[in-house]
Amino acid sequence: MRNYLQDYCVVSCPSLQEALMALQGTPAPIPMAGGTDLMVYLNYRRLPAGSYLDLFNIPELKQGIQIQDNKVVFSALTTYMDVRMHPYFQNNMKLLLHAAKVVGAIGIQTRGTWAGNIINASPAADGVPALMVYDAKITLASAYNERQVLLSDFYHGYKKMDRSPQEIITKITIPIPQTKDHEYYRKVGERKAQAISKVILAGRLSLDGQKKIQSIRIVYGSVMPYTYRSNKTEELLLGNELNHKLIQEAVSLIGKELQPIDDIRSTALYRRKVAQNLLEEFLCSAL
Ligand SMILES: Cc1cc2nc3c(=O)[nH]c(=O)nc-3n(C[C@H](O)[C@H](O)[C@H](O)COP(=O)(O)OP(=O)(O)OC[C@H]3O[C@@H](n4cnc5c(N)ncnc54)[C@H](O)[C@@H]3O)c2cc1C
Repeated sequence: MRNYLQDYCVVSCPSLQEALMALQGTPAPIPMAGGTDLMVYLNYRRLPAGSYLDLFNIPELKQGIQIQDNKVVFSALTTYMDVRMHPYFQNNMKLLLHAAKVVGAIGIQTRGTWAGNIINASPAADGVPALMVYDAKITLASAYNERQVLLSDFYHGYKKMDRSPQEIITKITIPIPQTKDHEYYRKVGERKAQAISKVILAGRLSLDGQKKIQSIRIVYGSVMPYTYRSNKTEELLLGNELNHKLIQEAVSLIGKELQPIDDIRSTALYRRKVAQNLLEEFLCSAL
């Protein structure tokens, strides 16, 4: 059964500045974008009563996707479908397209936003690993301040993040990779479509002529309590020649670096093993 709807109030603002001022209220209203996470909480009687701030009609947050010289900028209300429909992602930064395709189904992809995926902070978020693997930064604005945070520095525990209730994400900035990278994205779930992830790996690496790893990103979803960039295993690999021996060392290290969660969808034991298998698949596919 749903919560009692009269316990809720939705505030709409015609401009970003007015929305940011509304967030100065006590308590601050909770931002709502596509509502595809929040409405699920409502259905399960887990949505806190109180005020919500509707972002969906704020023009400054609806600027779409801008492809600039060295970066791609998503405005806050950019949806998965916006990425699916944009010609740029057919041949560039394809992990974003891949992630967009595996989120829910068409309805969710059309309404759900990348920013909502970030702030909902589910360990199983499918969009966040694809953004993190490209070194995305988020811009957080409040009535009196604006700052940028690297997405891989944003989380520090289960649903714990570097955001105050007065701030909203206004945009996501993703640097365009300057190297021709080998890329990998795999979502492991109960079935091929409409599944909540058990393990996700997004990876990106570039090799020099001697097969030495020049740059590497390894990001796991649904394994740790939050989307996790595996710095230790990246460190082991960086600068070394990619070969079967190094891959086995990396697979062994990732097994120790990860402290997987146990939950309704899967066990820690399964997650660790699959996380290792996916890393092996990613690295072997670059040989
Ligand atoms: C049937 C179904 C299937 C789904 N399948 C998947 C899936 O396969 N993979 C997946 O990753 N997710 C899935 N989801 C979850 C959801 O669709 C995504 O997380 C989506 O990206 C949320 O975006 P939203 O705009 O709807 O967020 P909302 O529900 O509007 O908000 C989510 C959270 O983000 C906050 N928020 C939103 N925008 C901002 C902003 N600009 N600044 C600050 N805070 C903000 C809200 O306060 C709230 O805490 C599914 C949901 C449903 C209902």
